[in-house]
Amino acid sequence: MNGQPVRPEAEARLLPRIAELFRPYRVQVLLVALAILVTSGLGVVNPLLIRTVFDEALFCGAGCPDLDLLARLVALMAAVPIVGGAIGVGQTYLANRVGQRVMQDLRDRLYAHLQRMSLRFFTATRTGEIQSRLANDVGGVQSVVTDTAATVLANVVIVASTLIAMFVISWPLTVLSLLLTPLFAWLTYRVGKTRRQVVEVTQQSKAEMSAITQETLSVSGVLLAKVFGRQQDEIERFRRENRRLAELQVRQQMIGQGFFAVVQAFFSIMPALVYLVAGYLLASGRGPAISAGTLVAFTTLQTRLFFPVGQLLRVSVEVQSSLALFRRIFDYLDLTPEIVDAPDAVALPAESVRGRIRFRHVYFTYGETRLPPSLVAPVGDGRRSPEPDGHHDEATGRPWILEDVDFEIEPGQLVALVGPSGAGKTTISYLIPRLYDVTAGAVEIDGVDVRNIQLASLTRLIGMVTQEPYLFHASVRDNLLYARPDATQEEIEQAARLALIHDRILELDQGYDTVVGERGYRMSGGEKQRLAIARVILKDPRILILDEATSSLDTASERLVQRALQPVMAGRTTIAIAHRLSTILNADVIFVIDRGRIVERGTHRELLERGGLYAQLYRQQFGEGLIEARCQDGLVLASGQVIAGEA
Ligand code: ATP
Repeated sequence: MNGQPVRPEAEARLLPRIAELFRPYRVQVLLVALAILVTSGLGVVNPLLIRTVFDEALFCGAGCPDLDLLARLVALMAAVPIVGGAIGVGQTYLANRVGQRVMQDLRDRLYAHLQRMSLRFFTATRTGEIQSRLANDVGGVQSVVTDTAATVLANVVIVASTLIAMFVISWPLTVLSLLLTPLFAWLTYRVGKTRRQVVEVTQQSKAEMSAITQETLSVSGVLLAKVFGRQQDEIERFRRENRRLAELQVRQQMIGQGFFAVVQAFFSIMPALVYLVAGYLLASGRGPAISAGTLVAFTTLQTRLFFPVGQLLRVSVEVQSSLALFRRIFDYLDLTPEIVDAPDAVALPAESVRGRIRFRHVYFTYGETRLPPSLVAPVGDGRRSPEPDGHHDEATGRPWILEDVDFEIEPGQLVALVGPSGAGKTTISYLIPRLYDVTAGAVEIDGVDVRNIQLASLTRLIGMVTQEPYLFHASVRDNLLYARPDATQEEIEQAARLALIHDRILELDQGYDTVVGERGYRMSGGEKQRLAIARVILKDPRILILDEATSSLDTASERLVQRALQPVMAGRTTIAIAHRLSTILNADVIFVIDRGRIVERGTHRELLERGGLYAQLYRQQFGEGLIEARCQDGLVLASGQVIAGEA
């Protein structure tokens, strides 16, 4: 996504899209515009009054100075800025409110959109990069949305009204003052364009910094760096990127400074030039007569141009830079969430679901999805079907991660998925809650294609205990409540008791209020797993997916986790990616997965007797390594042979 060339078609749509963000606040925007018109219009009143003061009240020949007129004019000149100032305060308040609301909407939209993105997006994008778009890019447009529009409008009005007044006073002098304008406009555009390119790179650098920080200052990152003694390298990497960012920021600030200085100098010199030209005109006797009042009023107006023109030039450069940021934000907003509800998706009420799971000739590859989400029809209904020779996805040329996986699990059954590492067991489990969609074939729950079930209701049906349970940096109670926010303390404790973690929680400093630490790092592996089990008990799903930890816990911990799992599995359809002997032995059926295919299926005994891959894996995992493995129900195994009957 980084470093994409600027796409012209998207560029053309950018400004209307930005304007669209202000649409909900059009009344306020209108009020701000009105206030700006009034305050900027008021701004030309005083310079115009100067002419009257000079030519009619102070130096008007006989009867002058006209003190009466002068007093009235001065009173007016005092009132104008006071009224203008008061309106200005209201206008600033309103403009800021609108700007902040636009920012708030943008952040909300971006966050909600990211929440809807599929797992595939997050596995392919660095967290730091995502955080940076949400923080740095949205933050970067802040000044533009809060005050650019107001600044532009105010200054345009000031410039326009001043120019009109200047024209009225003396058009030849005005034309003279405007000679260099086209050159300035062109230079502004060039400077803006360069700035925009630098901004793009700067934002990428910020995203890189954010990614480095996120990756290396998280508990896992710090642990890794410490264990491998790489802290110094990480410090160096950070330093390099940080230096690059600092240089880019300086470059960004400096672009166009020379140009702005020239413009500034030009505007300061202009009044002097006007005096010179006026002198020549007077001396030659050609051209319109110029009074002293006219000259003073004209040059006063001219100096009034100085600040707003400078502002406009700067702002237009900033607006151009902010387009780069908006593009990065819209880039994310334009990503289509891949897994969404089909228009005719149904809600499956959790109470009536039995929990029969069917995989119909499922093929899967981790590539880009090509099926539009609306294309949700059962297999054989015009959906893509895999090419007959198998092994590769025809469309992408990628090898199938799952190939013709076809099975049915009866309600309440415990199924163990067993197979070598990388065989595709986790992938199978991901297809049931639609963390990914099948490439071809279908996954069904109670005969309904999961793609035709509303995601919210699908999520309610399924509970997952992953290998490394994720815990938030919050209290034990809050982590448990995540499964069911309305659970009572009794229900929480009941779940914790069933998961055999209640007593341990009570031993903690603050019991259920103890904060578990970033990602639960203050808990042991077994405790985290039991907390995750308690969480799933609280959720009470119809279907349970259990990815057993491969990392071995000590025997006592392991046994606790096994025992904790018993009540969870009871009465639910359970798919366990099994690494524990007890799960395998308890399973109603074992599917042996190898390179994306189910190569064997049956019970432990049947599979052992067959003497195929399962028997081989079994001997490797439990036979040679474990001379004696005991599962909690008293079953004793020695040298890979079952010597006692199953409980
Ligand atoms: P293990 O027992 O080691 O966890 P597994 O049987 O669960 O392995 P999967 O995690 O399903 O295996 O992975 C199956 C294959 O898919 C592997 O070759 C893996 O490299 C690949 N894979 C997994 N996740 C992704 C992903 N997000 N993008 C691309 N390929 C992936």
